[in-house]
Amino acid sequence: MVATIDAVFPAGRFDKFLMLIDGNRQMYDFMGAYVYFPLYKTVREDDIGRLEAALSKCREPGVPCVDECIHIVNEEGEYDKFLVNIEDCGDNLHYRMEFQNISYGEKRLARISGKCFAMQDFLTVSGKVYFEYSPERNMFRMFWVDYEQLIEVYHQPLDEWAAEVIAKKMVVGKDRDIFEAFCKALRQVEQTRYFSFHGSILTRGVSEDAYRIKFLLRNHNGERMVIGTWSVINEQTGNDVDDFVEGTQVDAMTRILNKRAITDYGKEAVRSGGQVSIVMMDVDNFKMINDTYGHLFGDNVITAVADVLKKTVGENGAAGRVGGDEFMIVIKDFVDEVGLRNYLRTIKTNVAALFQDKLGINRVSCSIGASRSGIDSNEYKELVRIADKALYIAKHKGRNRFIIYSEEKHGQFHMSEEGYDMAEIRDAFYSEKDLTRWNELLAGVVLCGSGSLRPLLEHAVTTLAIDRFLVLWRKEKSWTAISAEEHLKSERERELLENEKYLNLFQGDMFTITNTNMLEFSLPEAYDVFRENGVRSVMQHLLRDEQGRLAGMVLAEECVNLKHFPKLALQLFENMSKIINAVLVKEKFLDK
Ligand code: GH3
Ligand code: MG
Repeated sequence: MVATIDAVFPAGRFDKFLMLIDGNRQMYDFMGAYVYFPLYKTVREDDIGRLEAALSKCREPGVPCVDECIHIVNEEGEYDKFLVNIEDCGDNLHYRMEFQNISYGEKRLARISGKCFAMQDFLTVSGKVYFEYSPERNMFRMFWVDYEQLIEVYHQPLDEWAAEVIAKKMVVGKDRDIFEAFCKALRQVEQTRYFSFHGSILTRGVSEDAYRIKFLLRNHNGERMVIGTWSVINEQTGNDVDDFVEGTQVDAMTRILNKRAITDYGKEAVRSGGQVSIVMMDVDNFKMINDTYGHLFGDNVITAVADVLKKTVGENGAAGRVGGDEFMIVIKDFVDEVGLRNYLRTIKTNVAALFQDKLGINRVSCSIGASRSGIDSNEYKELVRIADKALYIAKHKGRNRFIIYSEEKHGQFHMSEEGYDMAEIRDAFYSEKDLTRWNELLAGVVLCGSGSLRPLLEHAVTTLAIDRFLVLWRKEKSWTAISAEEHLKSERERELLENEKYLNLFQGDMFTITNTNMLEFSLPEAYDVFRENGVRSVMQHLLRDEQGRLAGMVLAEECVNLKHFPKLALQLFENMSKIINAVLVKEKFLDK
């Protein structure tokens, strides 16, 4: 499948004419006889414009690297599709480029899907869970298959599994003897047997069902193997429940795992101690897709994204839908960071290729955050938190990218004590790096004055993940923004800032509101201004002159989503506002 990724792709350094300067061995093999020509010569003509656009894009400040899809001629004179990752070497003279042949993956996928399709259809139609037991290795494995996904429910030594089932009371008490007889029959490798008992083995203790189990002995490549089906039956009718997997494990719309199933899968993968990456992924600007093209099309996008995920991860993990446009992917055995990057890049590029005809330049994109067991943590919950934070950083670095968390780059995460809920976690984390930088910039303002406010405000916007940060000061009747081009949006907004009733809402010079709609009846004039400006949540802090008179305001505004500001954000904001106030007073700014 696409997911079996070679560890090293052709990569090399090119000059501005795209002549290869140096590269790995794969790069020279790849260029072959073209090594003495500019790369342009090998690129399909109608891709050259896009390649050039990508080259200039990666030179823009703040762009770490650019991925583009282009066609390059192969030895047979035909064109293969490549994903090219381009990075500016930082000297404005050279580019680093890496080439991943995705035609190969596509062809291989087509071949494998062709082979497996009939078999998978057959397996899927029966809607059952399967198990196998190897007496030689004493390994028990239970799994179900749903098109591209093969999901393991259990994979461990039989005795260990049986002990766990009993200890966690996953077999109904009266049926325990039958369960033990079943395990014994497996161990003794009996030929063909049927068992029926009640338990919550498939749902790992969540809900009880009636099971009917059948197995037989087979010989696989010289190894004895017990293989069997594990069905859930409807006790009223005595029939198999065909949609058991669909009803409990699979998200109906996308047919990838639902939130509970992917959570179980992730926990189990981490617990088993193998190499695991927890990946959180969210479609960018999905609301815009819904608003522009309608919900039905939005649903198609979600389904297509889910398809990309399950094809990419193949048998090396599983993909699940954990929210509207939010997915979690568990990847196993990716070897090293390069391997993981290749998975993530494959996801990113294939998502970007969806519905290109319809969407044109508005192409679908996604942001991805990943954490790794053994490196970041060995706790499932912690890995999810870290991946989620990495996703959040990806969103705030401008979306359409993936970030593999690394402590070196992103620092340790601090979390305020509130909220372990997914949505809140994202807002409650601030990385050590972000906080250190914040303090440096604050110190800069104290030392160098209001002239260096701007980078502090910009940093505050990204760290707190809000849309706008403004420092306003009042002179006679007008309010002016310091260190920003922005101004008050209307006369009504100015009036609001001086409105007595509004100012009464401040406590100790601070005012915060998570949902500005709440002001609709209590303070309609404020509600109107916020609605007019599209402001959903705010934090505000008054600035005062030496005599303590109102002299300005610091505003932090969130426009797209409702935002609950965690305690840490409020503290940072308040502290920063007080320091800015002191600096402005010292500069006599507020008395001018
Ligand atoms: P961001 O880049 O920050 O992720 O922006 P976004 O617009 O994607 O924002 P967000 O992820 O918060 O929005 C998810 C939206 O997905 C909100 C909801 O209206 C929509 N949505 C949730 N479930 C479904 C669904 O099943 N079908 C469709 N069509 N839309 C859905
Ligand atoms: Mg989204």
